[in-house]
Order: sequence, then C-alpha cells, then structure tokens
Amino acid sequence: MTEQSKHPAYIWWNGKYVAWDDATVHVTELGWSTVGAVFEGIRAYANPSSDQDVVIFRLQEHLARLKKSMALVRLRLDYSLPELTEIIVELLRMNEVREDTYIRPLAYTANVAGKRFSEVGGEAGLLINTSRMPSHLKTGVTQTAAVSSWRRISDEVMPPRIKNLSNYRNGQLASMEARAHGYDIGLLLNTGGTVAEAPGACVMFVADGKLITPHVTSSILESITRDALMVLAREVLGLEVIERAVDRTELYLADEVFTCGTAAEITPITEIDKYQIGDGRQGTISRDLEHAFHAVLRGQDPRYRHWSTPVHAAASVLA
Ligand SMILES: *Cc1c(COP(=O)(O)O)cnc(C)c1O
Repeated sequence: MTEQSKHPAYIWWNGKYVAWDDATVHVTELGWSTVGAVFEGIRAYANPSSDQDVVIFRLQEHLARLKKSMALVRLRLDYSLPELTEIIVELLRMNEVREDTYIRPLAYTANVAGKRFSEVGGEAGLLINTSRMPSHLKTGVTQTAAVSSWRRISDEVMPPRIKNLSNYRNGQLASMEARAHGYDIGLLLNTGGTVAEAPGACVMFVADGKLITPHVTSSILESITRDALMVLAREVLGLEVIERAVDRTELYLADEVFTCGTAAEITPITEIDKYQIGDGRQGTISRDLEHAFHAVLRGQDPRYRHWSTPVHAAASVLA
C-alpha cells in the first residue's frame, strides 16, 4: 500500500508484477471473462509478537484448493504450488504489506471473444491481487439471520465445493433477500432441505456442549476455516465435533450458532427468524474458539505454526 493511494502498488498477472493502473482488460470482455473463473480467498494477518511480520494463513491448503477448482472447470494451471507460494509472498513484500490483508488469486478463461469460453484446454489467465482487510475478531460483532427461500446450489447443477465464480449469484440472491427483510445474512438449505451454509461462509452450532456442522456432502463449500476450527475445537478446547446432516430447527434451538470462513472468520449469530439463540449474545464456546483461532491466525500459537507462512521473514521457509 503506497502513501498516496488506497490501493496496493502491484498486482501479479500472468507471470509479471504489474503496476495497479496497468492491469486492465478490454471492456468487451466484461461479463464473459469471469463465466469460467474460479478463485481463492486467503488472508494474511499481522503478527504483533514477531517484529511486525505478517503471516499467511494456510496458504498451502488454499493453493491446493485453487488447483482442484481449476481442474474441475478444466483450466490448466501452469505454475507449481511452490512457485505460487513464492509469487504470493513476493507480492506481499513488494506491496509492503504490514497489516491484515486479503489475497485473491483468480483464474479465468482468457480470449473469450467469439464465445470460445467453453473450449477445453484453452488459455487460462491468472491474476493475484491484495487488498486491506482488517480482522473483526474480538470486536464483538454479531449478526442476525433468516433462513432463505433460496436453496443452495446442488452438485447436480453446479459444483458447490469449489470457489467457482458463477456459483456466487446463489449466495448473493440469498444475501439480498435477507437484507431486504431486515436481517444481516441468509442461511441456505440444500435441495434436500437440510442446512447447507451461509453465503460465503459455513455454519456451526453448539448443542449439549458439542460442536456440530453440516457434512461436506450437504452442498457446502469445503471450507479451510471450517476444517481448522474442527481441529482447534478438538485439540485446544477438547470438544466433541460432529459432521452430519443438520435440520433448520436444530439451529433455532441451539445454544450457540456462528458462521465461519476466510471472510467471516468467526461471526456469532444471535437470532434466526426471530428465535433468540442462547441468551442472545456470543456464547462461551464460540468465544473460546475465537480466542484460540485468533492466536493461530496471527502465528502466535507454536502448535499450529505449520499453518502460517511468514512474509517478511520468509526466506528460510521457502528455501
Ligand atoms: C470461501 C467460502 C467459504 C469459506 O471457505 P474458507 O476456505 O473457510 O474461506 C464458504 N462458503 C463459500 C460459498 C465460500 O465461497
């Protein structure tokens, strides 16, 4: 981030570090270029106890998922995961990133003019950009929710488990509906009628001291945060964690409900369809999980250091 501007100095695009203003495409590609796109959402967090370094959370898992997303939509990835790791770490260094940051690799079908976007093995473009995104953990933010009248896309129609850009109209419709009705977020059931997820975030709840979340065949995106929180709930909090089909009424009656994801981090839900959840505030288990997660995200828990890629002190890690 430069002094004068609100955007970072560089974007990585098709093999080069390009100045922000020079990373442009022609207006006629607007609309079509992203029909075939998949992406990743990754976060880097300032680690205050490590000489003002920033650490990228679970970068390897995010890159592995990018590779899977590209494979499923038949886009060729011309970089190895170690190469992409190096490219991203260098981009954050060039942008002099010292604060909480979002990193978004986007792979798309290049040369879409003439409706060639469904050509198999056609040219893929890849860009990686960064933007400032402060964490909202420990700020006390909560949300209200309503079960959406929209259903989550199913694997028979679109692949819910990957970050396929075309999928996001689904969550967007649910979000807009929820906001129009005065709620913060919508909760999507799947076509089988059980709970899938929130737009762009997975859902977890606490009942009888256990942490429960819809399983990966519930039309959810296979969230890396969800996976991390299941590990932390078991290993740090000693909780029983269950993945299974979840009914909407279980959410209404839960002691605690929260959304989780790279963007959502952990965000408590205090009310669903005007049913108060627990005592209407963040519950103690989600608060304990939030505190454990916060330390891990900032690279301050040595037990989970393998999930952190340091940026400014990265030379030794990449070697
Ligand atoms: C990215 C995303 C999530 C959360 O996944 P993370 O890997 O934890 O970021 C959940 N649902 C959807 C639809 C998403 O796009």
